[in-house]
Amino acid sequence: MEAVKLFPMPSFRKYQKEVIERMDELFESGVKVILLDAPVGFGKSAVNLTFCRKYVQSIYTTPQLSLIDQIKNDKYLGKYVVEIKGRENYPCVKDVMLSTVDIGLCKRDRNLGCSAKERWIVCPYYSQKLKALNADIALMSLAYYIVDGYLEPPNFNDRRLVVIDEGHNLAEFVVDHVKVELSPYTLPPKLYRRYSGRLEPRSQSELEALVEMVSEDVEHELDALEFDLMGGVRLSIEDARLREKMSAFLRNARRMLDTIRKTEWIWETTWTTYRGKPCKVLKAVPIYGRLFCEEFVWSRAERFIVSSATILDPKLFVRETGLDLCFELDEIRHLQVPSTFPPENRPLIDLAEGRLSLEMQDINLPKAVSKLEEILIKERGESIAVHFPSYRLAKQVYDRIGPVFRHRIILPTPETREKDLEKWLKERGKVLFAVAFQEGQDWKYDLCHVQVLFKALVPDVSDKRVAARLQRKDYKWLMIQALKESLQAYGRAIRAPDDYQRFYVLDSAFWELLRRQWKYVPDWFKEVVPWNRLPEYEKRLRRAKERARTRSRASA
Ligand code: SF4
Repeated sequence: MEAVKLFPMPSFRKYQKEVIERMDELFESGVKVILLDAPVGFGKSAVNLTFCRKYVQSIYTTPQLSLIDQIKNDKYLGKYVVEIKGRENYPCVKDVMLSTVDIGLCKRDRNLGCSAKERWIVCPYYSQKLKALNADIALMSLAYYIVDGYLEPPNFNDRRLVVIDEGHNLAEFVVDHVKVELSPYTLPPKLYRRYSGRLEPRSQSELEALVEMVSEDVEHELDALEFDLMGGVRLSIEDARLREKMSAFLRNARRMLDTIRKTEWIWETTWTTYRGKPCKVLKAVPIYGRLFCEEFVWSRAERFIVSSATILDPKLFVRETGLDLCFELDEIRHLQVPSTFPPENRPLIDLAEGRLSLEMQDINLPKAVSKLEEILIKERGESIAVHFPSYRLAKQVYDRIGPVFRHRIILPTPETREKDLEKWLKERGKVLFAVAFQEGQDWKYDLCHVQVLFKALVPDVSDKRVAARLQRKDYKWLMIQALKESLQAYGRAIRAPDDYQRFYVLDSAFWELLRRQWKYVPDWFKEVVPWNRLPEYEKRLRRAKERARTRSRASA
């Protein structure tokens, strides 16, 4: 059946029909992966769902939990999907709801809990999983989709189509998922204490030896718990939690030991707070996510749609996510869709007076702070989001800004960010110093009409993995990441054709970034860049087009 007939909405938005027809042609001609680059307002979910309906059984997944709720609660889309969440979201009914399924009664007592057959009927998680497994379209978070790959079968493998919505950071997501962490949060207290003095390996072989040793000890601990269980001992909820924690550690540790000779890993020792006390943490992550994306994502279905507003450089995306390990390059296509939002509703306003890179901050930070003060005066009464790449810079600006502005400012910390966001959304007229809020936020209409990009959202170079990529001269990756995050921030407060926002830029480095990466900037963003910030060749091109238009009007 033609895909367009399966469109779930009563009518098409601009471009949707043409895009569906084009995607249908591509899939029919043997294309296996479509990178759908479409701005906010296009209606990606409805288009994606059209193909989920065509290629049953399929999966709709996304890293953004708010998007899952939107789809589930949409009166046209929700009826086609069956959602499945992680086990920790469902209560164990055999334990009178006292525990969740990941640590449910059957995990703690061999004689109680459901039998293997019974659980598919009475257990809220397993019965829901069964429904989702049998459904035409299963809806789940990307984290669940990945974890499902190594949960006990049956799994969501071998689907005809998997949609990864908002999938622009897929490689980073997968890298984060496979990281190995030696900390009180991932190891039993006794084992953490045993190794806490040895969490600073000086070489890769020392790292391997350490992870090997810790893994062996974790395995013994797990065996001991298993032995108790077999012998009829009932585990406490705490022990069951520990068992889950150790299994997760062991999985990632084994994966690291298996792959460390095939792909580069880096590690660093940092500090965290555990039960009020400072504790050392050793973290190891792969520098590149290619191999892992292949294993967790691409090898598990026949075809894929990856949709986002910011798949800026498809070649880089293919390389970063290892798509080329599973598919021929002519099986992968990139489609770009224009914006339907009028540019006059979403101007970019240039107030930058210098670069805010670390070495220029002494000179330019005071100027940027006083520009921010001007904005806060001009936009009095508006809820404003000011985007920063780090808490450190946000705090620095907060300390420098005039005291008269501080009562309006909400300055989140990593611990308070969710509550602070809620407060900002409720109290109109406040200013949120937003760190890492450039994704997954839907600040439509009066929630926010004014945003400020205080500094270009360049990845933190003090992060070891980012530093390692810089050492390997992955400048392109760094630039595209910075551009992607900054454009994502722009998209937070313009959510519908009749919505509007003013987006101020205070960092000249953003304009330089834009000029250098111009060919990767999507048209919907190019059309709002102020004339004085356009690259010279773009100005020449636009002048030539204008002259041609004037000539054709005159001759008509
Ligand atoms: S399978 Fe039964 S015992 Fe196990 S978590 Fe589910 S409801 Fe509880």
